[in-house]
Amino acid sequence: MYGLGILKGMGVTLKHFLDTYIEDLRFLGKGKRTDVAFNLRQGGRNQRLGLFTVEYPEEKIAVPERFRFIPFLVINNLDAEEDAGKIWCTSCGICAKVCPPQCIWIVRGTDPETGRPKPEPEEFYIDIDICMNCGLCAEFCPFDAIKMDHDYELASYDRTTHHIFDKARLSKEFRYWRSIAPTISAEEAEARGGWEHKDVLKEKAKASRAADKAAGAS
Ligand code: SF4
Ligand code: SF4
Repeated sequence: MYGLGILKGMGVTLKHFLDTYIEDLRFLGKGKRTDVAFNLRQGGRNQRLGLFTVEYPEEKIAVPERFRFIPFLVINNLDAEEDAGKIWCTSCGICAKVCPPQCIWIVRGTDPETGRPKPEPEEFYIDIDICMNCGLCAEFCPFDAIKMDHDYELASYDRTTHHIFDKARLSKEFRYWRSIAPTISAEEAEARGGWEHKDVLKEKAKASRAADKAAGAS
């Protein structure tokens, strides 16, 4: 029959419309705007009932652990006993090479005494307007030094340099990475052999060998 499809479509819309009110009653007194309620009502096909709108920005749905937005650089915790605030990036340049839109720019640091390159970036920039959030930089980094962030509220009116993030703006403490990705960070730590970064462990082993050697010589 001509127009049957339209009627069916309107029927579905009407059903969702009514479901909204029925669902509101179901959540009455249980906190219908809590994280749990958001997940149920905006979640998978079997959970989603009614036309439920999250009133962003006043309300926000928690993002899943593997959600990825702009990358950030991991640094040691600022209150760490050793190497507080040390950046994990060794300036190897792999992330800049694999980045499809080429929006990472790194300036490798040099030792002021010897003039030789050192495994640390002097400058590190990401143009977040160009970044397409693919996560390849984080996938390919051999040092777990760059991770995908959850912070998606980065809009601004500035059209010039505001969205070119520098090293200071990109750097975040390791505890932040653990807080937004507890499972992934634990898996990575297990693969590395501990919560400390392998470079820190290597430095410690080197220092201990040097101390042993010095003790042996005296
Ligand atoms: S791949 Fe990792 S260690 Fe290498 S430059 Fe990029 S962030 Fe730094
Ligand atoms: S997420 Fe993708 S596009 Fe963005 S900086 Fe990393 S590699 Fe480049």
